[in-house]
Amino acid sequence: MTGTLRAGIIPVTPFQQNCTLIWDDATKVGAVVDPGGDLDRIEAAIKDQGITIEKILLTHGHIDHAGGAAELKERLGGVPIEGPHPADRFLLDKLPETGAGYGIAGARAVTPDRWLDEGDQVTVSGLTFDILHAPGHSPGSVVFMSRDERLALVGDVVFQGSVGRTDLPGGNHEQLIRAILEKVLPLGDDVAFIPGHGPTGTLGQERQSNPFLQG
Ligand SMILES: [Zn+2]
Ligand SMILES: [Zn+2]
Repeated sequence: MTGTLRAGIIPVTPFQQNCTLIWDDATKVGAVVDPGGDLDRIEAAIKDQGITIEKILLTHGHIDHAGGAAELKERLGGVPIEGPHPADRFLLDKLPETGAGYGIAGARAVTPDRWLDEGDQVTVSGLTFDILHAPGHSPGSVVFMSRDERLALVGDVVFQGSVGRTDLPGGNHEQLIRAILEKVLPLGDDVAFIPGHGPTGTLGQERQSNPFLQG
């Protein structure tokens, strides 16, 4: 038997990235999504909630999302890292250099235990998330979608009232908009989403009013 999915957001790094804890309130087992840095605060939040982390999930390879993943894996006793899509390998390989460029100390390169692709599924305490490959912000961005709980973890693909920037290496604005229109919005107007930065929202609200997604 599984319980209800719970989620808590911990803004991390100078980019105020929404590192997200997700867990099953029945088993108190969960995952850390996008531990970009500030690992002491992430660990404190895990302890506060009294949950056991069974894996780390990555939406994409940017420093503010993935920079702390390798060290957190170590701190948590070697839990597996799942995601992103292999097209972001070049970003994960150069995290130390990128971190140095942004003045973020301690970022490590990371190789996921499992790469993800369109149609894959990941489980967290038995709760299932479908994987969408949604390139454009980065080539290997993925979305984690819980069809049962109507919740999507979208990384930097779409934000409340905006979309991901596409001026970084491998970015492509047309590809991003196509991924949002053809894959993300069809998940359903009722779906709540947690973006990589800023407030949460619903896909219906974005379909109706996000200025990047009209016409
Ligand atoms: Zn990003
Ligand atoms: Zn970001």
